[in-house]
Formats: sequence, structure tokens, C-alpha cells
Amino acid sequence: MPDSQWEVVIGMEVHVQPRTRTKMFCGCAIGQLGDPPNSNVCEVCMGMPGVLPVINKAAVEACLKTALALNCEIPRHTKFDRKNYMYPDLPKGYQISQYDLPMSVNGHLELGDRQVRIRRVHLEEDTGKLIHAGDKLHKAWESYVDLNRAGVPLMEIVSEPDLRSADEARDYAQALRTLLRTIGASEAEMEKGQLRAEPNISIRRYGSDDLGVKTELKNINSFRALHRAIEFEVNRQVEVVESGGTVGQETRGWSEAEQRTFSQRSKEFAEDYRYFPEPDLPPLELDRPWIEALRRALPELPAARRARLVSQYALPASDATQIAAERELADLFEAAAKASGDSKQTANWIIGEVAPRGKLPTPAHLAELVTLVATGKITRDQGREVLGTSMENGHSPAQIVAERGFAQISDESELRVIVEGVIAGNPRAVEDYRAGKKQAMQALMADVLTRAPQTKPNIASALLLELLK
Ligand SMILES: [Zn+2]
Repeated sequence: MPDSQWEVVIGMEVHVQPRTRTKMFCGCAIGQLGDPPNSNVCEVCMGMPGVLPVINKAAVEACLKTALALNCEIPRHTKFDRKNYMYPDLPKGYQISQYDLPMSVNGHLELGDRQVRIRRVHLEEDTGKLIHAGDKLHKAWESYVDLNRAGVPLMEIVSEPDLRSADEARDYAQALRTLLRTIGASEAEMEKGQLRAEPNISIRRYGSDDLGVKTELKNINSFRALHRAIEFEVNRQVEVVESGGTVGQETRGWSEAEQRTFSQRSKEFAEDYRYFPEPDLPPLELDRPWIEALRRALPELPAARRARLVSQYALPASDATQIAAERELADLFEAAAKASGDSKQTANWIIGEVAPRGKLPTPAHLAELVTLVATGKITRDQGREVLGTSMENGHSPAQIVAERGFAQISDESELRVIVEGVIAGNPRAVEDYRAGKKQAMQALMADVLTRAPQTKPNIASALLLELLK
């Protein structure tokens, strides 16, 4: 990362596929990755002449819910516009998007104790996909067009340049994903292309309010790639500026194979989209009672849940942040904490052991495990093993402890407590033993066996010898 004289400024555009059954302006199914090419298409999304688009209400609703959850203002009027560009992945020759009257403006997302301002959330349609293939041997090159994605709804969430590091940019994208899943607006799975991040990045000297020339990174589809691409790009810009050069305004891609960004398109080739109002769609007047009903129907949002985990369960803020970051984790925590009655230990197990496994035990099993460890029936190490086994075979932790014979080892830890008590309660015998009177051992053993009659003598004497050292 750059030295302290450079401040990093990042804004983010995130494209999210709302949860809908059909495409943005036609009745085609959304389909899945791996569907045969051009199997989810019709005249509308193939851009045939004479067809008319129809607005997908579910997509509008998902966009409005997202905007409300991001504390945006919802204007009374909104409309769609044509964004013109000629490229084979878009057979109409334009994309239907929103230009000067987006679905929502001026929101914010809470990120820890900070607020990242949201400039707008609008709706548009996705483009098709080009596959460049060929036969090297015969020098025959071909490009294929798959329009399954053409016309799939997309929400574009645009932030102000409020992010200051690769860490923050990744946290922001993750917080957005959590929010979208919590309100059910999108599954937001990056690996399925349902959430794509496009950070724009610039650097400036600390203390300066000017914005430097920014580069935009396109279509990053994992949190890890997002973090690495931003770190790489920041370092690249610092090197350029510190060696006397200037950063050019351009669009750059991220090469996962080479772990570096590369230039795709410089500003000289920036396109003039010649936006104009989409003549085939009516402007929308957003009904206030409908908006208010959507607002009231929103579930508890991650930021509110985080605050509640702190107040209701007395969790430290850092624990609450980690647990509230995933709705499933937070649900598991609340159910297991109630069942075990030990919220702090439940939180520790979730953060330390459950979250990294990426798979969840049932609340009842987790609560049982927390209790087994907290009461000293098994050790923490054994608890980890029991958790792993329980999640594999579905048996309850108590059952696994019995099957593995861990309870016997726990007898030994109970025995240890008894032996320590015997040593503390017989100072004279201990002193004699340590002075070399080996027969003093017999008195100590007798006391141990009185207090724990079911103990095997060889285990008890081994423990006594160990603790008398
Ligand atoms: Zn269609």
C-alpha cells in the first residue's frame, strides 16, 4: 500500500440482479448459468423490429426496496432512457437504462460507524454475452453471441467517492450483499454474476480536497479480486505519480491469472451514449401509498440488527458486526444463544469456529456444544472436533461425546480437580512426600479414592505423581 502521503479515494458502481422470474422488459425466463445458448430469448430481447417492451413490476419493486433500505429518496416521477451504443452483445443498438430521473437518489449505507453516501439506485437491462472462439490450427476465428443474459434486469447502485481503502471497498460490497439478501431483493451471488463491482479509484495528497484522475475497474466478480485489484491499482497509480508521470483516465480490467489490472479503453475512446427518453415506455409515477407499504414491509436491516445484538445480548460491537454481517449467522446466533443461555460463548463459537467453516450447525446442536464446553464436560479442542463431526454426520454433540468416549477424558479433568483438592487439603503429607518420605503417597491416594471411589487407582496415582512434581 502507498505511504502515508497518499489518500485513496474510491467510489463504487455495483450491478445487482434483482430476484425476478422474468427479464426486465419481456416474459423470458431468467434461466441459469449453463443453459444452452439463446434458449431464454424472444423477439423483444433479441431486438427484433416492431416489438414493444413491458416493464417488469417485480424488478421495480426490488429496486424500490433496495433504495428504501439504502435510505434513498424516491422521487415522484421516474422514467427510462435509451443509452445508445453499437455492439453485437446488444442487438437493439441501445440499452434501456435510466439517465436523469432515476428510481431513487441521495441515500447512504452504514458501514461500521461510518456512512457511505449513495448517489442513486436505478434499473436497467443486462447485455448478451460474446464468446470468442476459434481454431488456431486453421486460423479460423469465430465469435458467438449468446443472448440469454440480454434483457435480464439489473439494479445499478452508485456510491459517492466515500471509500478510502481496498478494505473499505470490500466491506462495502459485502455489506451491500448482506442488505440485499436480508430484504430479499437479490440472491447477490458474486460467483453467479448476480453482483458485479466496478470501483473507480484515484489518489490525492492528504489534506487535498481535489479529486485526482480516476481509473475505473470493470466487472469484478469476487470480493477477493475486488480487494486485490484495488490494491494493485492504488500501487500502480502511486508509482506513476511518484515517477513523475500522470494517471490517465481510463477503464481497466482485472486479470485474475496475472493478478494485475490492464488498460481496456482510454478516455479518447469514451463513447457518446446520446441518451434520450425511451419512447416505447411510459414514465412512471411512483404511488406514495405503495412506497410506504414497501417501506413498512422491510425486515430488520443489518445495521439495526447489529445495534440490537449489542443491546439485547451484551455483545461487543466487533462481535455484533461480524455476526450481523450474515443473516444466517445472526439467526443461528439468536436461536443458539437463547437455547444455551450463554450469548458470549455462543458468539465466540460462531465467530471462531462456525463462520470460517462456511456451513452451519443447527441452533440446538450449537447450544448443546456451547454448554458441554462451558460446563467443562469436554475441552475446547474436543469441542472443535465434536462440532466438525456433528456437522458431517448430523449427530448431536452429546451423542458424539458419548460415542467418542470424550466423557471419560472429562472424568479425568474432574479427577484433576479432586486431586488438586487432596493436595491442597493435606499439606503435611505433601510436605513429607516432597521431603522424600514415599509412604506419604499412600495417605494421599487413600484420600483421593475416598473422594472419587470409582476412579482407577493407576490413573489416580499417575495424576498425583504429576501434580506433586
Ligand atoms: Zn425475451
